[in-house]
Amino acid sequence: MKLKFWGVRGSIPAPGPETVRYGGNTSCVEVVTSSARIFFDAGTGIREAGLKATVDSLPIHLFITHTHWDHIMGLPFFAPLRQKDRMIRIYALHRADASLNDIFRSATEHPFFPINFNEFESNLQFIPLEEDGGPIYPAENMQLRYTRLNHPWRALGYRLDVDGASMAYITDTAPFKHVLLDKEFVKAPPPLDDPPPEILDILANLENRLVNMLKGVHTVIFDTMFTDEAYKANPHWGHSSPAHALEICHKAGVSRLVLFHYAPEMTDAQTDSFVEDSIKLGKEYGIEVIPSMEGEEIWVN
Ligand SMILES: [Zn+2]
Ligand SMILES: [Zn+2]
Repeated sequence: MKLKFWGVRGSIPAPGPETVRYGGNTSCVEVVTSSARIFFDAGTGIREAGLKATVDSLPIHLFITHTHWDHIMGLPFFAPLRQKDRMIRIYALHRADASLNDIFRSATEHPFFPINFNEFESNLQFIPLEEDGGPIYPAENMQLRYTRLNHPWRALGYRLDVDGASMAYITDTAPFKHVLLDKEFVKAPPPLDDPPPEILDILANLENRLVNMLKGVHTVIFDTMFTDEAYKANPHWGHSSPAHALEICHKAGVSRLVLFHYAPEMTDAQTDSFVEDSIKLGKEYGIEVIPSMEGEEIWVN
């Protein structure tokens, strides 16, 4: 299977001369198959992806990890939305407090955007995913599983299997040892050195489910927004470092880790040394580490 990175930046677009090599657009990854176009997240990278996607009429399946801005802000500019009858399915976690339709439609309501989702001509459906983890079968020879990550107000991590090849897209998530800022658990983060045991149990359970889902996956794209130092300064932001990502990949027996969701302030020069350090650390685990770069493609077995 072939993957293409349309946006690899976290939090907010960061264009400019200092980020031109790794790229400034926010999260969007495409999986190219013969029967469908699969996208993960609709950050600003999806705008250019959409222009390319209009050359055919393959069904589009878009899997949203969560609805923080950096993962959906490109969606109103996704050209296939304007293609008459183009089949587009948008999947995200079912929420009890708001329907998926309301969440996405409100993003384009007056005064935020001139065109409402109701006015787009495509055949657009929103599909809420229950927390059971699937699998679902979006297209021929394709299986998708998902599990909940450790991120404020919940994100989903996805695993996709197509014709015997497998990849996973795991962003945004903190490591599973510190408490997330999530209304279900706590109002504010407790001290890092003294998290309540019941919360540690919930986090351990989330980690087990993630590791089980990743078993046998060849390539995992993982939230590696932070260096270890930056993580220490922001332990409750809901993001990981390469060391955290490698721990999970090691437990699951993953072959290759792809660094992703770079911090907006990280320059290309800083990212180069961040990548170099991560490759060295990966060698200790016997895991290949590669960077994601906007506009680049990789093959997955
Ligand atoms: Zn994000
Ligand atoms: Zn987020």
